Amino acid sequence: MPATSRRFLLAAVPVGLPKESDFKLVEAPLPAPDPGQVVVKTVYLSVDPYMRGRITGVRTYADPVHVGELMVGGTVGQVIESRDPSLQPGDYVVGAWGWQDHVSAPAAYLRKLNPQVAPVSTALGVLGMPGMTAYFGFLDLCQPKAGETVVVSGAAGAVGSLVGQIAKIKDCRVIGIAGADDKITYIVNDLGYDSAFNYKTTTDYGARLKDLCPKGIDCYFDNVGGVISDAVFTLLNPFARVSVCGQISQYNLQSPEQGPRLLSQILVKQLKVEGFIVTRFQERWAQGIAQMAQWMKEGRIKYHEDIVEGFENTPRAFIDMLEGKNTGKMLVKA
Ligand code: NAP
Repeated sequence: MPATSRRFLLAAVPVGLPKESDFKLVEAPLPAPDPGQVVVKTVYLSVDPYMRGRITGVRTYADPVHVGELMVGGTVGQVIESRDPSLQPGDYVVGAWGWQDHVSAPAAYLRKLNPQVAPVSTALGVLGMPGMTAYFGFLDLCQPKAGETVVVSGAAGAVGSLVGQIAKIKDCRVIGIAGADDKITYIVNDLGYDSAFNYKTTTDYGARLKDLCPKGIDCYFDNVGGVISDAVFTLLNPFARVSVCGQISQYNLQSPEQGPRLLSQILVKQLKVEGFIVTRFQERWAQGIAQMAQWMKEGRIKYHEDIVEGFENTPRAFIDMLEGKNTGKMLVKA
């Protein structure tokens, strides 16, 4: 077992898009495990949009990471020493020990993975938090019916790429919005979206959506907010459902954007607009993971991972994800 662990601390509260210098790599002593604890070597780190919200210095739905503290995050690793009978050296586990390359942690905080079911990296993507966000955030909140039109923003990312496929499984017509031509090709040709457009090269989102959604929009899974969502809202059908999952277009802004006032749309069309945090569904995750794994086995759900090599590149991978350089789930291989 190594004597120390490398870890990234928050060095400064980012202004706008984070910079690599907002994070500091340090080496800290790795405590020997107490009874009930294990030592884990990090294999994969997840970089996720919610981390941007955690480093604003302000409490959102969770406490912020303060300057000088360890960066939070989901992680997969391999047990290298154990003082708990439930885990043996060599076992793979998933947990949330943040941006560090080794940890001594209570075994009870870790979930053992079965590498026979799926590659262990999927515990941070399709069979983990993003997968459950797509599964429950779409099915529970949007209640899709066969034949309905579903629009997904952030459609080629970790969550969005799964929402579109779940909507296809439910026999919906699915339109995706994403920020690169290769992402559009991927979601239409590989994932089965009915149509999609690149918001970075489209000038009139409303007109494009009107073309692609001649019967209006029944369900909107919103990953991005901002002007994209403003355009979707005007085309929602009466009694449409909106799942507000993320607002990534707003996360790096230094002052709030002024948008149109949409409450009258909610009123006159009798819309259901609901936000959620995926941990709301924690007690049903096992059921959701089992269903996603089954769909994967049947070839009905595909996933893509963009894997950045090297623990030291974690801040870069995080920034690249915020800038849209990922297709599917962005991970770091430590
Ligand atoms: P992701 O989509 O894999 O990665 C982020 C993507 O956001 C980028 O690839 C980029 O794709 C897009 N993006 C960046 N800036 C944008 C902008 N200004 N306008 C539009 N799109 C922009 O990330 P994810 O993990 O799947 O998360 C997607 C969303 O779900 C995020 O908003 C996140 O906060 C939210 N989320 C919510 C929960 C919850 O519990 N509610 C849980 C997980 C995630 P493009 O190339 O398409 O721009």
